[in-house]
Amino acid sequence: MNKDARVFVAGHRGLVGSAIVRRLQGAGFNHLLLRTHAELNLRDAAAVDRFFAAERVDYVFLAAAKVGGIRANDAYPADFLRDNLQIQTHVIDAAWRNGVQKLLFLGSSCIYPKLAPQPIREESLLTGPLEPTNEWYAIAKIAGLKLCQAYRRQHGFNAIAAMPTNLYGPGDNFSLLDSHVLPALLRRFHEAKANGAPEVVVWGSGTPRREFLHVDDLAGALLFLMERYADESPVNVGWGEDLTIRELATMVARVVGYAGRLSFDPSKPDGTPRKLLDISRLQGLGWRPQIRLEEGLWQTYAWFLENQASLRS
Ligand code: GDP
Repeated sequence: MNKDARVFVAGHRGLVGSAIVRRLQGAGFNHLLLRTHAELNLRDAAAVDRFFAAERVDYVFLAAAKVGGIRANDAYPADFLRDNLQIQTHVIDAAWRNGVQKLLFLGSSCIYPKLAPQPIREESLLTGPLEPTNEWYAIAKIAGLKLCQAYRRQHGFNAIAAMPTNLYGPGDNFSLLDSHVLPALLRRFHEAKANGAPEVVVWGSGTPRREFLHVDDLAGALLFLMERYADESPVNVGWGEDLTIRELATMVARVVGYAGRLSFDPSKPDGTPRKLLDISRLQGLGWRPQIRLEEGLWQTYAWFLENQASLRS
C-alpha cells in the first residue's frame, strides 16, 4: 500500500476503527478518509454511494457495525440484524462499483457454531447451529463475509474478511449493561473499589472460557492482511489462548486493586461454553500478536482512568 493511498476507515470512532486509524497514522498513511455518523450514515445507501463517487477511495477497512455484549444482542435483535446487513451491503457494493482496489471486512468469532471443535478453524463456518444469544449479529456477519466472497467470485472484487476474537482496549464501550465482559468488569471492579463495596457480582457461572486480543494487536494484523492477503477464505485473528471468566475477573480485580469478594449470578446467561480461535492460518502468513492480557489490562485501565469523564453510560 502506497502511503498516499486514499484509505476509508468506516467506523473510525469505535474500538476497532480508532485502533486502525492509530496504526495507519503511525505507519505514515497521510490520506485517511474519516466520517462521523452524523456526516455519513452508512445505513443510507444513496449517501454511501455519493461518498464513494466523490472521494475516489483506494482501500476500505469496514469496521463500522452495531455491536454489543450478551445482553445488548438479546435486547435489540432487530437493530443488530438490520443495521449490520445495511451497513455492510451498502459499503461493499458502493466500494466495488466505484473502483476501490481492496476492502477488508471485519467479522467476529461468534459466526462459528456454538459447539465448534476448539480451537476453532476457519473451516468450521456453517457446520452447525449458532449460539442463540448472539445469532442476530452472527447471521449479519456471516452474510457480510459471504458478500465479500460473492463479489470476489462474480466481479473479481478484492474483498477479504478477518474474524477477530473478543477484543478490548482503549476506546471500548464501558457501559455496565451493554458492553462486553472485559470492559464491564473493569468498570464494575473500579466502582466497587471506589465505593468500598464488599462484593462484586459477575454474570453467569464464571466457567465459560474466552480469548481476548488487544485491539492494537488486531489493528496490526489487519494492516498486515490488507497488504499481503487476497483470498476468499476468512482469516481468524486471536491471541491463541483462553481463560475462564472467573480467571478473568480475578485478574481484573488484581489490576484495579479491588480486595473484596467475587460472586456469580447464575440467572444471567453464560453464552457459548468456549470460544477460542485457531490462528494457525494467520501465523502461517507470518503474523503474531504481542500484547499479553495482563499488560493490556493495565494499559486499558490507565486509559479508563484518564477518560472516565467522557465514557458512554
Ligand atoms: P460473548 O463472548 O459473546 O458471550 O459476550 P460477552 O463478552 O458479553 O460475555 C462473555 C461472558 O462473560 C458470558 O459468559 C457472560 O455471562 C460473562 N460475564 C460476566 N460478567 C459480565 C458482565 O458484566 N457483562 C458481560 N457482557 N458479560 C459478563
